[in-house]
Amino acid sequence: MTQRRLRIFDDVYADAAMERQCPNCGAEPNDYCRRPDGEIRSVPCILRVRLAEGSTP
Ligand SMILES: [Zn+2]
Repeated sequence: MTQRRLRIFDDVYADAAMERQCPNCGAEPNDYCRRPDGEIRSVPCILRVRLAEGSTP
């Protein structure tokens, strides 16, 4: 089990604009948002969720 599928994140990130670069943390498209220490955020940045909702700041 060397390949870890992060399906738990797929759920919470379903609301975020994963096809876009995150305007907050700078995560690449289709990559998860990262905290400044490099850890994957357990929830996407709020700005990225708003991108998905179409209300671009
Ligand atoms: Zn982000």
